[in-house]
Amino acid sequence: MSSEELPPRESMEFDVVIVGAGPSGLAAAIRLKQLNADLNIVVVEKGSEVGAHILSGAVIDPAGLDKLVPDWREDADCPLKTQVATDKFYWMTKSGAISLPTFMMPPLMNNHHCYIGSLGRVCRWLAGKAEALGVEIYPGFAAAEVLYDDKGAVRGIATGDMGIAKDGSHKASYTRGMELCGKYTLFAEGARGSLTKQLIAKFALDAKSEPPKFGIGLKEVWQIDPAKHQKGLIQHSFGWPLNNSTGGGSFLYHYDDNMVAVGFVVHLNYNDPYLSPFDEFQRFKTHPSIRTVFEGGKRLAYGARAITEGGYQSVPRLTFAGGALIGCAAGFVNVPRIKGVHNAMGTGMLAAEHVAVAIGADRANDELVDYENAWRSSAVGKDLYPVRNVKPLWSKFGTVVGVVLGGFDMWCNTLGFSLFGTQSHAKADRKTLDAAKAHAAIPAEKPDGKLTFDRLSSVFLSNTNHEEDQPVHLKVTDMNLQKTSEHDVFAGPSNRYCPAGVYEWVEEASGPRYVINAQNCVHCKTCDVKDPNGNITWVPPEGGGGPNYEAM
Ligand SMILES: Cc1cc2nc3c(=O)[nH]c(=O)nc-3n(C[C@H](O)[C@H](O)[C@H](O)COP(=O)(O)OP(=O)(O)OC[C@H]3O[C@@H](n4cnc5c(N)ncnc54)[C@H](O)[C@@H]3O)c2cc1C
Ligand code: SF4
Repeated sequence: MSSEELPPRESMEFDVVIVGAGPSGLAAAIRLKQLNADLNIVVVEKGSEVGAHILSGAVIDPAGLDKLVPDWREDADCPLKTQVATDKFYWMTKSGAISLPTFMMPPLMNNHHCYIGSLGRVCRWLAGKAEALGVEIYPGFAAAEVLYDDKGAVRGIATGDMGIAKDGSHKASYTRGMELCGKYTLFAEGARGSLTKQLIAKFALDAKSEPPKFGIGLKEVWQIDPAKHQKGLIQHSFGWPLNNSTGGGSFLYHYDDNMVAVGFVVHLNYNDPYLSPFDEFQRFKTHPSIRTVFEGGKRLAYGARAITEGGYQSVPRLTFAGGALIGCAAGFVNVPRIKGVHNAMGTGMLAAEHVAVAIGADRANDELVDYENAWRSSAVGKDLYPVRNVKPLWSKFGTVVGVVLGGFDMWCNTLGFSLFGTQSHAKADRKTLDAAKAHAAIPAEKPDGKLTFDRLSSVFLSNTNHEEDQPVHLKVTDMNLQKTSEHDVFAGPSNRYCPAGVYEWVEEASGPRYVINAQNCVHCKTCDVKDPNGNITWVPPEGGGGPNYEAM
C-alpha cells in the first residue's frame, strides 16, 4: 500500500506534546501543570512502560528534584533512599588501584549531597506525580514522525503504525499511528534521539555548535554479599583496562538492599576498530580490587545506553518554530561528574516555564527564543561552563595528562578563569576510527559465567523483546558501502561496539554477509553514532519493543 492509500490517522489536540518520559520530559510535564493546571499535556514513551528504556548510573544531584518536588525527601514512595556517604576515585593499573585524595578535586566534584538509586524507578515515581496532576502518559508508543504545518513549523508528532510485517505488508493487526498535535512540542528523547537528529538537520540547529560527542555506558546491577556491602559508597576509576588514548572509566555504586550498580563508559571517539566496550567492561570486573566485591553475589540486570559528552560547546540551538529540545536530546551531561539528570530536569523545567508564558500570551507554534536565550545563564549553563574543557583535554592529551589538565582547568574555572579558553571537540565520533590494518585484534577472554558474561546471556537480563515480524529498525543506507568500508577497511567494528550482539559478518562462499539481529537491540544508539560512514540509522521499532529494564 502506498502512503496515499493509507487510511487517515486520527488526530488529537493538546496544548503541549512531549516526546519521551525520561527525567527531562516528566519534569517539563509536571512544571507545566504546576504553572497552569488547565493545560492539556501528553507524553509519549516508546518503552512498554515508563522506565523500561531508562538506564543511568545513577548518583543523582538533587538540584533538579529540589526545584520540581521540594518535599521529595519526605515522600515515602520516592525511590531515592541512599545518600552518598563515601566517595572514592582511583587510577587503575592492571594489578593495582591508586586512590586519589578527594582534596585534589575541585569542590564542584563533591558528591556528598547526592543520592544513589535507579533512574528508571525515579521516572516511574515522577510519572505518578505527573498523572496525578492530569498529564496523559502513553507508554508503548514511539513518536516516529515529526509533523509540520504549512509554514514549516512543528505542529506535533505521529506515533508509528503498528502491525507492519518484515516485508512491509500489513498484518491483520495493522493499526495506523495517531497524530498528537500541540501548540508546542518538546523533544525529550535522550541521547541521540531519532526525531531530534532529524530536527537538528532540518533546522540546522548545530550550525554554530561543536559536534555532539557520546560515550557508550554499559551497566550491571548486582546483589552482593551483605558483608561486603557498604551502603552509600561510590567509586569511580579511570585507566586500566583502557589504554591511554582511549577515554572512559568505571563507576561502582553501593545502594539499597545490598545492591551494587557497576558500569563502564567508553568514549566513542576511540580509534581502535578492534576495541569492544562490552569486553573491556567484563575485563574491568576481573581487576583484583573489583572482583572480590562480586564474589558470592548475583548479577540481576544488564543494559547499555549512549551518554552525551559534548557538554557546553556541543549544545545545539534548542528552539525552532513550534518546539524545543530538552535534556540529553540536546546533551546536558556534566562529563567529569557523570551527571545529567539534574540538568535534564533543569532544562525540562526551564522550557516549560517559557512554554507556559507563550501559551498564556495566546501564542502557538512559534519559536521559544527566550528559552534558547536563557539556558546559558541558568543553573544548567553555570553547571556546564566550568567543566567544558575536561573532555576535549582528555581527547587531545590522552587520559593521564588529560585528567591532570582537566582537573587543573576545573580549579581555574572555580576561581573564575581558564588558561584554555573553550577547547574544541574536533571531529565527530564516527570519524575517529583508524583502518583495521593499523591495529591488531584484541583477544577477548572467555567469560566464566559467574563474574564475566557473554553478550547474549547479558541481553537476556535486559528482558529485551521485539515483535519479530516487523521491518528491521536499523537502517543500513548502502549495503555495498557496509561491505567495502565497514567490513573491508574497518574489520566490522559494529560486531564489537554493539553491546547486544546485533551485528554479525557471516563469512560465506559468496562473500561476507551482514546479519542484523534487530530483535536483540537494547536501544543504546551506539551504531547510529559510531558507524564510520554514518551508514546506520536507528529508527524506532514498533512501540513497546526494546529492553524492559525493571530498575536501571
Ligand atoms: C551509563 C550511564 C550512567 C549515567 N550515570 C549518571 C549518574 O550517575 N547521574 C546522572 O545524573 N546522570 C547519569 N547519566 C546521564 C543521565 O542518565 C541522563 O543525563 C538522563 O537520563 C537524561 O534524561 P533525558 O530525559 O534527557 O533522557 P533519557 O533519560 O534518555 O529519557 C528519554 C526517554 O525518551 C524515550 N524516547 C526516546 N525516543 C523516543 C521516541 N521517538 N518516542 C517515544 N519515546 C522516546 C526513551 O525511551 C526514554 O524513556 C548516565 C548515563 C548513562 C548512559
Ligand atoms: S543495534 Fe545499535 S542501538 Fe541497538 S544495541 Fe546495538 S548498537 Fe545499540
